[in-house]
Amino acid sequence: MRYPEKRLRRYRKDEKIRELVSNVKINKTDLIQPVFVKEGLDEKEEIPSMEGQYHHTLESLEEEIEECDRLGIPGVLVFGIPEKNDEKGSLAHEEEGIVQRAVRSIKDFSEIEVFTDVCLCHYTSHGHCGIVKEGELLNDESLEVLGKAALSHAEAGADFVAPSAMMDHQVKYIRDVLDEHGHEDVGIMSYSAKFASNYYGPFRDAAESSPDGASTGLRNRDTYQMDYRIGGEGQPMEEIKMDLQEGADIVMVKPALPYLDIINEASHRFDVPMAAYSVSGEYQMLKNSVENDIFSEKVLEESLCSIKRAGADMIITYFAKEMVKDGKI
Ligand SMILES: [Zn+2]
Repeated sequence: MRYPEKRLRRYRKDEKIRELVSNVKINKTDLIQPVFVKEGLDEKEEIPSMEGQYHHTLESLEEEIEECDRLGIPGVLVFGIPEKNDEKGSLAHEEEGIVQRAVRSIKDFSEIEVFTDVCLCHYTSHGHCGIVKEGELLNDESLEVLGKAALSHAEAGADFVAPSAMMDHQVKYIRDVLDEHGHEDVGIMSYSAKFASNYYGPFRDAAESSPDGASTGLRNRDTYQMDYRIGGEGQPMEEIKMDLQEGADIVMVKPALPYLDIINEASHRFDVPMAAYSVSGEYQMLKNSVENDIFSEKVLEESLCSIKRAGADMIITYFAKEMVKDGKI
């Protein structure tokens, strides 16, 4: 018997059939736009190392959210940059803090899903993600402040809090605090597998949160964020498993493009919604390449597709608005 000849190029013959057979599509409803709101600004300011991204005032943030709403982007991840800080990051849980005010103001007029970053690095004078003593980042002491910060975000109206400090048991601690105060409906999107990455460079500018080694004896975040030399089967999966056992609703891998293997492994192992954070370095790298005609701008869709193909259900990306606005997806 002679089998008909298989010709895979039939699937690629024209754009219509290519569209029909494609099974990984980026929709605007997959995207979350990160936004930065900064205290003490008179007007919004472009972040020097992140072209097209801004430090917002409360007023300009409102316009940003209205635009996201118009474009149909379903969620924002809010970061706050306060005017003051201290050694223990205690301003992270002020009722009148910049994030708390921003969340209240968004929730006043918009139904956009509000995720808030819960960390101390923007609030500590030394820029570390928790309390540091004698060159060591104190895990359990930091949980207390993170719990208070998460609670203050929930009270302001956040839909999901997103702990990003990489402290052990931060998810359980925060879940308990939220439940004790009647916030059972507030979810947790955990930065579960967050790597100590060089791709965060531009974000440090955005969040003004470079760790100060001189005053703390702790030069970088290597003692709490994960080592990029570790593959998917070990620690990254342990981190995700532990966060799920502790009550995380959505787990996240960060960064995205250099960690597609981790996203893929996790998506096969855990049947829960998975987020990938395509970070500032990925953004700026692609942006520069497109602007300098090194890549066609189709590289943006291709990159997002690769993250989704790896297994992410939602992508936090600085390109969210641009992709939708300019019809790139
Ligand atoms: Zn942090």
